[in-house]
Amino acid sequence: MKVTGISHIAIAGDNPEQTRILYEDILGLISGSSEVVEQEGVTTHFYKAGESTIELLEPLSAETPVGKFLEKRGPGLHHIALEVEGLDAYVRKLKEAGIMLLSDEPTLGAHDMRIIFIHPKSAGGVLIELCEHQ
Ligand code: ZN
Repeated sequence: MKVTGISHIAIAGDNPEQTRILYEDILGLISGSSEVVEQEGVTTHFYKAGESTIELLEPLSAETPVGKFLEKRGPGLHHIALEVEGLDAYVRKLKEAGIMLLSDEPTLGAHDMRIIFIHPKSAGGVLIELCEHQ
């Protein structure tokens, strides 16, 4: 049971083409895969920045969590994802400590990773994703 690194930093956007031009054409980040994650109501697009990854989130509709986020706050930093080993043990420990989670159990995210989110109210105002390779 340990955190092995920052998996990615996620940004909610409403203009993916403008972002693509900045990230890919101007900054030279390597564009990775796009994936629809129905469960989260988003299309994810990954950009490689050296060893690090930026995940661009586009809502599938205004009714999804990211759609509501954009309506409320506009585009911007959405969450930070920590890659862990022992996700289920972390979930138990978080619950024991009274930390608020967005779901009761881990769900399936992009790249077939198991994920769970820690509520910003329990994490200093930042949405934190824990993710683990299956
Ligand atoms: Zn993420």
